[in-house]
Amino acid sequence: MANRSSASLQEALKQKLDYDQLTNCMRCGFCLPACPTFKETGIEAESPRGRISLMKATVDGLLEPNVRFEEQMSHCLGCRACEPACPADVKYGRLIEQARDAIEDHTTRHRWWVKAVRGVVFRGLFPHQRRMRLLGKGLRLYRQSGLQKAARKLGIVGMFSKHMADMERILPEASGKGVVELLGTRIPAEGEKRGTVGMFRGCLMDVLFTETNRKTVELLSAAGFEVVIPEAQNCCGALHAHSGEADLAKQLAKNNIRAFRDIGVDYIVSNAGGCGAILTEYDHLLHNEPEWREGAEWFARRVIDVSKLLLENGKELGPPKRAGGGAPSVRVTYQDSCHLKNVMRGGQAPRQLLHNTAGVEFVEMMEAGACCGSAGIYNITQPEMAGTILERKMGHAQATAAHYIVTSNPGCLLQMKLGIEKHAKGKGMQAVHLVDFLYDAYKRNS
Ligand code: SF4
Ligand code: SF4
Repeated sequence: MANRSSASLQEALKQKLDYDQLTNCMRCGFCLPACPTFKETGIEAESPRGRISLMKATVDGLLEPNVRFEEQMSHCLGCRACEPACPADVKYGRLIEQARDAIEDHTTRHRWWVKAVRGVVFRGLFPHQRRMRLLGKGLRLYRQSGLQKAARKLGIVGMFSKHMADMERILPEASGKGVVELLGTRIPAEGEKRGTVGMFRGCLMDVLFTETNRKTVELLSAAGFEVVIPEAQNCCGALHAHSGEADLAKQLAKNNIRAFRDIGVDYIVSNAGGCGAILTEYDHLLHNEPEWREGAEWFARRVIDVSKLLLENGKELGPPKRAGGGAPSVRVTYQDSCHLKNVMRGGQAPRQLLHNTAGVEFVEMMEAGACCGSAGIYNITQPEMAGTILERKMGHAQATAAHYIVTSNPGCLLQMKLGIEKHAKGKGMQAVHLVDFLYDAYKRNS
């Protein structure tokens, strides 16, 4: 007989899971080879088909949702590589978010440190841009005051976990200032104006990768776009939605719709695949709230990744096309952002931009579209599986002998830096955001 907590979880799963999507799965298994967790384990329950079967069996009352059920749901990276592979168009991403939302409302099984990470990340930090900026200032002080050196020397970070020590080593130089403080809220177009874009600055992006945000604005301006950066915007809510915090994700989405709704933009530009993907899905996120439907649809339709906008509109800007301009001087490979590729279907524009860049030899790595193991906070909550996936990824990256691994999402970028630190240190390989790479090439070549 089901105990009280599993019975209430079963009830929550019945209410939250989209039963039509569960029955759409025809068990063909086409998604299995696309799934990183299935590839690593070979276990059916670690595959999209297996997870959907578990959800359906639970909703049908054939299975009690026990600790193994919760584990299988949390082992999923949420990379959504299974969606493009699915001939029945099963919206797996929605199912896993619904399952996790039900689990979060009922679980008591999180380890203490997982609870602590979730509390700090989801509630304490990410929704509050001022706190994020303070964090940036704190990290800057930590580095500049010599504390970082001392902590490393004494092995203080490593006392908590080896993984945390690895992560600390690859933290970028945080900024005490966001892109608005650097450039203002309205940046004019250079030359003839093509349109007006709203920039989604991101919460983490604007603290750890402020320079990438600045370069994004400058490339857009040089391409003829006036750029508006609404100060009232906040975190996109992706981490919340993927981790079972649907109510918080909805609140963040509503704030963003309010922030962009009245500024009259042609596009809302993102330079982070993980953020961009959920921004395009605000209409689904708020589909049960009729008063938000129109605003959410308006917002979602305008979202575009910076790579697509630059490819389609940045022709005069460059980077200059290769035209007999001598031998390539750098070898570059590209690691897909799962959500840019699988949700926004934007895997080609970054490659095309790199291919067009003078002096670049573009080399595709094997399984470039497979998740790197970053997956939001997955590499913190599931370090073993994330580490195994990263090791495989770095094997493929090194086989290209590339000087640069380029990517389009801050989480992927940090994971690639971690991969180089752990598996390719001293081998002349760097990880870089696409915008930084294009900006430097543009400055060099213009
Ligand atoms: S989202 Fe990624 S890890 Fe999860 S089932 Fe789909 S392919 Fe596998
Ligand atoms: S490919 Fe689609 S229909 Fe086939 S098993 Fe996977 S999720 Fe189900």
